[in-house]
Amino acid sequence: MPMIRNLLRNFRSLQSMNKIVIAIDGFSSTGKSTLARQLAETLNYTYVDSGAMYRAITLYFLDHTIDLANHTAIEKALEQITLGFIDNKISLNGVIVESLIRSMAISNLVSEVSALKEVRKFAVAQQQAMGLQKGLVMDGRDIGTTVFPRAELKIYVYADEEVRTMRRFDEMKLQSPDITMDEVAENLKHRDHIDSTREVSPLKKAKDALVLDNSLLSMDEQLQMALAWAKERIEK
Ligand code: C5P
Repeated sequence: MPMIRNLLRNFRSLQSMNKIVIAIDGFSSTGKSTLARQLAETLNYTYVDSGAMYRAITLYFLDHTIDLANHTAIEKALEQITLGFIDNKISLNGVIVESLIRSMAISNLVSEVSALKEVRKFAVAQQQAMGLQKGLVMDGRDIGTTVFPRAELKIYVYADEEVRTMRRFDEMKLQSPDITMDEVAENLKHRDHIDSTREVSPLKKAKDALVLDNSLLSMDEQLQMALAWAKERIEK
């Protein structure tokens, strides 16, 4: 935290300058949410975790046993869903569901749900509305390609598969102590495959995105790198 405080001091002047949109994409557990959150905090921007929106929709579909093959049922269900963020925590119909959406049951279904075109249309429209004011950092899979194709800064975060599995395992263990490394690795592979091969807005690097490979970087190092890129664009 002292590191962030120092950065805040150095970047205070940037906070009052031109606001930009920062789009961060990459596979699961590449550390993009951590980077996005820290960037937003340093620049005094709004942070939006778009993955949390797809997870909350999945939670609703699971709770209401929505048949993913029934497009009418999907559209009707979406009409009943209101998403929001309260102190950076996702809310579903007014209730904070931040920890519920991180379960393995949700992780195992979210990629199937987020591949549905009705679901993408619903979520993307809300994400684009959030960007109208600028001063926004959003992370996900299609932020630089579909949600904000004209974002001033696009970052494609990459990390080795083993590093990602280890990070995700450490995170999941806190919530599910019985979880195995194999389960985590399987889930990551499953989601990576669906997320990058689906028909609508598959995960891919936007042509003009800068690649940040953080396999061997500390969180502070990756933040410094991204802040330098942001600074260049804010000062333009
Ligand atoms: O970011 P996170 O891993 O929590 O995202 C959960 C899932 O939500 C992803 O595996 C992906 O299927 C979906 N997602 C998406 N588009 C985004 C963000 C997330 O399809 N912009």
